[in-house]
Amino acid sequence: MSTDSRTVIVGLDGVPFGMLKKFGETGVMPNTHEIIKNGYFSKLRSSIPEISSVAWSSIITGANAAEHGIFGFIDTHPGTYSMRFPNYTDVKVKPFWEVARGESVIVNVPATYPVRPMNGVHVAGFVAIDFNKSVYPSQLVPLLKDMDYRLDVDASKAHTSMDDFLEDVDKTLDARIAAYRYLWKNQDWQNFMLIFTGTDRLMHFLWCAYADENHKYHELFVDHFRKIDVVIGEIVADLNENDTLLILSDHGFEGLETEFYVNRLLIEKGLLQFNPGTDPNLSNIAYGSKAFALDPARIFINQKGKYPEGSVAPEDRESVITELTAVFSEFEINGKKAIKHIYRKEDVYSGPYIDEGADLILIAESGINLKGAMGAKQMTGKGPFTGKHTLDDAFLLINKKIDAGQLPPTPSVIDAGQYIKSKVS
Ligand SMILES: [Zn+2]
Repeated sequence: MSTDSRTVIVGLDGVPFGMLKKFGETGVMPNTHEIIKNGYFSKLRSSIPEISSVAWSSIITGANAAEHGIFGFIDTHPGTYSMRFPNYTDVKVKPFWEVARGESVIVNVPATYPVRPMNGVHVAGFVAIDFNKSVYPSQLVPLLKDMDYRLDVDASKAHTSMDDFLEDVDKTLDARIAAYRYLWKNQDWQNFMLIFTGTDRLMHFLWCAYADENHKYHELFVDHFRKIDVVIGEIVADLNENDTLLILSDHGFEGLETEFYVNRLLIEKGLLQFNPGTDPNLSNIAYGSKAFALDPARIFINQKGKYPEGSVAPEDRESVITELTAVFSEFEINGKKAIKHIYRKEDVYSGPYIDEGADLILIAESGINLKGAMGAKQMTGKGPFTGKHTLDDAFLLINKKIDAGQLPPTPSVIDAGQYIKSKVS
């Protein structure tokens, strides 16, 4: 192993500041608690929107979406309504491991599929489709398969049997830990990044089990975090004095009360229409539609010259933004406002790819989960999820105090990414 000062990053996907603090204080995560007591511990602001592909892309590049080019899990091909799934080849800024000193081992970072040659080892995180395109160098594929390594939890199991889902979550975690232990020992690394993503899956389906100590799955939920804390303890024990350990999440989480299908509101307000007799999807959008939403709640104006059925003239963009802002800011669910923030892309993004971003990005009030859901029959509903992402309460934990000025008060995922780049280069 290298003797130069090393950087280790452990990601806990979706884990909120308050949960980590609580698990530290209540003895679930004693090793993490020691770091919290002696190091730097802050809330971290997620990306806008607060989803993993955008946020982790900012963490690994130190850039905002208009620079790195990842705005969501789904987007349209430029100038069309046809859907595409952006992946690692769309990330326009080099991740830290491509500018770092020495070798890096990168395990399970979301939105880094398919892998490409780099100095070290890279195992992609979700969404990763083909195992063979998820591992660099490819000689490691058989070894990982022998470990029963899984690229992601099979979340579909949660829809049929919560016991099967939890078993899958646990096996996925065990295999991830086995892979980390092997690579930690056998690679001559300078930088190591390991992300746990089962945390996000667990919180989506079983936030209810976290919130209720008498829930039948409460202990299983907590055990997942106990296992992760053991890994954190191992890592700390193996660090040298000059090494830096960062533990962070990409967004926070809270209980989900209602889903709000934002395209349904656009349809009911006459702002989005489909050609008569066709299915409600973007390829059937009718001329005259003013806007549409892509997940989770990115609102695109159907602008003339930008889309084939675009009908809003560029000079009318401002008035449509005003109209949309009024529609969303006034909308209430059970007598309470549904939308907390309406961000204009100019206010949250800056960079060469800003034109690809949504015109407006909505952030919901507490308990409300936003979805595009073009085909939804109602405005609101409730699916199998009991937890949802939050914007303001991800966390950043570092194993040492930080010099003033190295990070702003309440840093963002972009600040965290820039800090990481400064450490490794
Ligand atoms: Zn999630």
